[in-house]
Amino acid sequence: MSARRFKQFAGALVLAVLLTGLSSGGPAAEKQEVDLIVLGSFVVTMDAEQPIIRNGAVVIDQGLIVAVDREDILRQQFVGREEIGGTGRVLLPGLINGHTHAAMTLFRGVADDLDLMTWLREYIFPLEAKFVDPDFVKVGMQLACWEMIQSGITTFVDMYFYPDVGAQVVLDCGLRAVIAAPLIDFPSPGFEGWQDSFAEGLEFVKRWTGKSERIMPALAPHAPYTVSPEHYLEVLAAANELNIPITTHISEDYAEVVDMQKRYGTTSVHHLDQLGLFDAPLIAAHMVWPEKSEIPILAAKKVGVIHNPVSNLKTGAGIAPVPEMLAAGVRIGLGTDGAASTNDLDLWKEMRIAALIHKGVNRNATVMPASTVLRLATLGGAEALGLEKEIGSITPGKKADLIQVDIDSPRLMPLYDIVSHLIYAVEASDVVTTIVSGHVLMRDGKVLTLNATEIKTAAARIASKIKAHIAKE
Ligand SMILES: [Zn+2]
Repeated sequence: MSARRFKQFAGALVLAVLLTGLSSGGPAAEKQEVDLIVLGSFVVTMDAEQPIIRNGAVVIDQGLIVAVDREDILRQQFVGREEIGGTGRVLLPGLINGHTHAAMTLFRGVADDLDLMTWLREYIFPLEAKFVDPDFVKVGMQLACWEMIQSGITTFVDMYFYPDVGAQVVLDCGLRAVIAAPLIDFPSPGFEGWQDSFAEGLEFVKRWTGKSERIMPALAPHAPYTVSPEHYLEVLAAANELNIPITTHISEDYAEVVDMQKRYGTTSVHHLDQLGLFDAPLIAAHMVWPEKSEIPILAAKKVGVIHNPVSNLKTGAGIAPVPEMLAAGVRIGLGTDGAASTNDLDLWKEMRIAALIHKGVNRNATVMPASTVLRLATLGGAEALGLEKEIGSITPGKKADLIQVDIDSPRLMPLYDIVSHLIYAVEASDVVTTIVSGHVLMRDGKVLTLNATEIKTAAARIASKIKAHIAKE
């Protein structure tokens, strides 16, 4: 019997068994009971096997994706203990925010319209020295997680002070995050300098290793102009020993290019590559100014680059050569950066701006098509984080990190191409469901795992102190 004939025969056999079961009232009992079934008028999987499924369903059990297919097919096999309807909704993988400083939500709008170095050195560093403590980080992180759950971000990479406090908030609210202990050569909140912050960073990593499948501890040396080569080498040795990723800012603005030339007579990319940083799992935020000859190095060394278009535009840092990096095979994800520079944690805005600016500066409307940009925010981000086997697409066996977007809106009618809508027309507020590891964090637009009233009150309390301080200046 040919393979095709066998398939037909097997199909007929299954049908016969099902029909027999129906007549005896049996098949319901034979269906596999699972934790959750989520439906969607469209399922955009980001999986090459079946990229878009009309009237689809995703079957979830024990935090993992068990199956994805048409709803009518999966209903024959599975029954969910819980179900989330999908009429007028598109179901897609949760978005991945590859670079942020989440607790900086409390500095949202505190200093705008300044170049990066002025903004950082004259405003942000002094404000951080005065206000950032565990309470600030707890409230700022809660505010950030609320905003991210609401807008469909399910995984983020965070680099901020008091990482234990931040990690605990993430653990409690159900999101997934790489939480990286920040390391810098000069005094920072809670630390006198490098030695004590590095020692505490290592302790943080050890405390959180293996604690939760949703929290991945990491180390975050700030940038090549604020961390010495010797200290980068210490981080590299520790990361290798502890088997954790490193995340750092690289080549963010042109002032850094000039500074690095003065300090070391080279570029940030060459400097860190020579130190061996690119031989470790590295998540590199920004990468606005790599030289042409450096792009193949980033690809070959599998550096995960995080593109933060809105932050880079707002601080006047420039526009990263993303189409060139993608063409060379660099792993690229998208990030919001902190809300102090970007003013929100909205990856939909990042996607739309990414799709638009590269067309503009290249004077070529065919670069960065919608499908490419959507990939940056999902599977591309997962690759940049080294997590592509676990998240980034709706694929059986991966973690059940999913979102639903409501497309039943006049603003989204008519609908010819769902991927076009996701990039050029959908807003963050259209997200109605957020699920991480099979747990529902937001249902019908209501965040279930954080207390909005408490967060608003606490944020207003801290902001009033910051306002009073600014008024005195
Ligand atoms: Zn940053």
